[in-house]
Amino acid sequence: MPPQLRVLVVEDEPDLAAVIGAYLRGETFDVEIAGTGPDAVDMARTLNPDLVVLDIMLPGFDGLEVCRRIRTFTDCYVIMLTARDDEIDKIIGLGVGADDYLVKPFSPRELTARIRAMLRRPRGIGDSSTATSSRLFGALRIDPDSRKVWLDDDELELTRTEFDLLDTLAAQPERAFTRRQLIDAVWGSEWYGDEHIVDVHVGHLRKKLDDDATSPRYIRTVRGVGYGMA
Ligand code: CA
Repeated sequence: MPPQLRVLVVEDEPDLAAVIGAYLRGETFDVEIAGTGPDAVDMARTLNPDLVVLDIMLPGFDGLEVCRRIRTFTDCYVIMLTARDDEIDKIIGLGVGADDYLVKPFSPRELTARIRAMLRRPRGIGDSSTATSSRLFGALRIDPDSRKVWLDDDELELTRTEFDLLDTLAAQPERAFTRRQLIDAVWGSEWYGDEHIVDVHVGHLRKKLDDDATSPRYIRTVRGVGYGMA
């Protein structure tokens, strides 16, 4: 038996929290539930969950603040629940470090499909059998083994998604990737949803790389296709 994964569900509507909790337990996750922002941070610290399912509107402080705070001590997966799909760009723009987003209302099956896809994504130090040397693009240096990125001599703080996206592009710098190909590589082939999620993460990555979409140094837009390295 593989070790049971621990999930912290943060949701202040008791009925919804109970439904999500019951469904995830049925999928053999070990589930704990928090109903406020402060409780979520405390429980994340003591439980050390593998994954946090995080509602945005919460009493105390909101899910964005919860995400910011737990990111100071854990690299666990975070999937955020939003009430409106037009909130997603804003949330990603804030760069709080969530891995995925789901718009309410969603079916429990959709949530578990997203979670399963997320858990298959690489995390932490990669497969040691595929040790790779640093990739260099002008002032940009990417080290796939330590998952660190430097611009000049400054180490950049990328989210796991941003790193995976950049590393996927950089691994085949001549290639033009479609959004779907990037989703398959970064989010997993079972991920489904708006492919526009790639654009918002690329936008955020460009900001951190101080890159300009109109005269890119690192990531270029391939019109009608997707993205590639410049
Ligand atoms: Ca709520």
